[in-house]
Amino acid sequence: MPDCLFCNIVRGEIPCHKVYEDERVLAFLDIQPVNPGHVLVIPKTHSANMVHMAPEDLHAVMDAVQKIAPALLRAVGFEGFNLGVNTGAAAGQVVFHTHFHVMPRRPGDGYELWHGTEAGDLAAMAEKVRGAL
Ligand code: 5GP
Ligand code: ZN
Repeated sequence: MPDCLFCNIVRGEIPCHKVYEDERVLAFLDIQPVNPGHVLVIPKTHSANMVHMAPEDLHAVMDAVQKIAPALLRAVGFEGFNLGVNTGAAAGQVVFHTHFHVMPRRPGDGYELWHGTEAGDLAAMAEKVRGAL
């Protein structure tokens, strides 16, 4: 995709701080990290979001996350991480090339990613979702 920021990064036309690369996957530091060592893991082949990814790319990205995350935590001295995938503008997606955020976390770092709300009728909701699948 010529106008896609992350495709440009994959092609090397825009620089990045690469931490990992293989045949299908590139991982590099986010320029606005939520914590030090915030990494973006992306498929090299363009897709707008993870729903549209080829399964082979999804598997390769997940394999890379599993490989990168423990090393990342050792490197930055953090204890845990959140894996984030903003999908759609309503969910905060800004770059429409699939990317997985790996965000190192430590106790007391001040981030609260979501609040639970009243569950309502869970049985009805589960039925609705099963019906949609
Ligand atoms: P989204 O909100 O789409 O899930 O996340 C896009 C992410 O890309 C943001 O965290 C943002 O900081 C990061 N980002 C945007 N432009 C660039 C860039 O040019 N280089 C790098 N390394 N990260 C970028
Ligand atoms: Zn792209």
